[in-house]
Amino acid sequence: MAAPRDGLGAVETEGNGGRSESSGAEVVLSSDPATPAPLCPHGPTLLFVKVSQGREGTRRFYACSACRDRKDCNFFQWEDEKLSGARLAAREAYNRRCQPPLSRMQCVERYLKFIELPLSQRKFCQRCQQLLLPDDWEKHGEHQVVGDVSLTQLKRPSRLLYPLENKKTNAQYLFADRSCQFLVDLLSTLGFRRVLCVGTPRLHELIRLKASGDKKSNIKSLLLDIDFRYSQFYMEDSFCHYNMFNHHFFDGKAALEVCRTFLQEDKGERVIMVTDPPFGGLVEPLAVTFKKLIAMWKEGQSQDNSHKELPIFWIFPYFFESRICQFFPSFCMLDYQVDYDNHALYKHGKTRRKQSPVRIFTNIPPNKIILPIEEGYRFCPLCQRYVSLENQHCEHCNSCTSKDGRKWNHCFFCKKCVKPSWIHCSICNHCALPDHSCEGPKDGCFVCGELDHKRSTCPNISTSKKVNKLEAC
Ligand code: SAH
Ligand code: ZN
Ligand code: ZN
Ligand code: ZN
Ligand code: ZN
Repeated sequence: MAAPRDGLGAVETEGNGGRSESSGAEVVLSSDPATPAPLCPHGPTLLFVKVSQGREGTRRFYACSACRDRKDCNFFQWEDEKLSGARLAAREAYNRRCQPPLSRMQCVERYLKFIELPLSQRKFCQRCQQLLLPDDWEKHGEHQVVGDVSLTQLKRPSRLLYPLENKKTNAQYLFADRSCQFLVDLLSTLGFRRVLCVGTPRLHELIRLKASGDKKSNIKSLLLDIDFRYSQFYMEDSFCHYNMFNHHFFDGKAALEVCRTFLQEDKGERVIMVTDPPFGGLVEPLAVTFKKLIAMWKEGQSQDNSHKELPIFWIFPYFFESRICQFFPSFCMLDYQVDYDNHALYKHGKTRRKQSPVRIFTNIPPNKIILPIEEGYRFCPLCQRYVSLENQHCEHCNSCTSKDGRKWNHCFFCKKCVKPSWIHCSICNHCALPDHSCEGPKDGCFVCGELDHKRSTCPNISTSKKVNKLEAC
């Protein structure tokens, strides 16, 4: 499958603007609705097809939607495989055993008890990543425990918990303060009153901190995340244990209703969804999920609002632009570079190579989104949007063409702007890195031969097919 979020360093290397898929599997969206996918501990599985050398195999199989490493979830079943009743029962029992030890309600009860404790009795076990009540102390006697957990600390769980580092499945990259602050201010400037945070725990907590500190900007936030540790810190109406690759609510209908109510409140007005998914490359299932959330919001709209769209910020690397826009044609990519705390590679550095490749994709008109001048953004009156200083307006393309924060150059043969490190190659008849091999093994797209994407993201095949199927979902 595609490179995990952590593979960005490699993915970003120029020339191959895409992902490695020498051997991999692709998700198949068109699974027959009459045969529901089997369940793993993370909800309905997805149907995949093995791909090698750019060719699809024929036998399809189900695997976990959330875990891209079989060490984390080893569910595997051929599409045409029939399981005995005994094996199905064993699987069901196993799925149950894998669920978190405490129910959502038990977590809430524990939290309410916890905040009643005097400061000296509020402890957090670092090994188990758990808030402790006095009855639990003995069991964690040998563990590393933090004492005197203040209310301020409780309000910032993303600082108390360590970020999950499982590279393939659940690496957590938390927003740097500057970016998180920028997002909260932007949401408030744009007039939003509710934010559905899908995989953005740090944004969720900053919104809530601001809301409690300032009555005027009283924005509500609901966090949907697969990281169950967060359920210790939030009541049922502000956190749902959720899988964004299959739209699965681990706590069933009650949790789904929390989400629905949140989206539809106030006639669905002034609500936005903000998401920062793992860059695992499964753009299609994410798009399917987001369309389901959009549909949920739409249900609450009156007929004459049917042209309206749910405002969305989808935070993702710039090289997924064509992919995201395939599924959401009304989205555009902002030039703002989103920075993270715990990822050395992407910190906003003075040196160019350290710029973050992560951008915001949105259906909000870009001229409404003011990017901070002091961080080096300017308004381009011709494009009617804010861009980074280095991103110069090209009079031939009539657009500010840079995608990666560097100044791009116009190539008159290619009739478009290209990366500064590329030169035009008259043998290949397009621009490429100077040391590319003209006749060498093609590592571009198997379908159309372009070098800037792979077969799975080729805009020239089955795109309309794929998108149509999606619309139907
Ligand atoms: N920048 C964000 C965090 C992004 S990291 C912030 O600072 O708030 C990706 C987030 O998505 C993590 O919180 C992770 O727990 C969550 N996540 C990963 N896989 C998920 C899945 N399958 N379903 C829902 N959330 C998931
Ligand atoms: Zn699973
Ligand atoms: Zn411009
Ligand atoms: Zn140009
Ligand atoms: Zn060229």
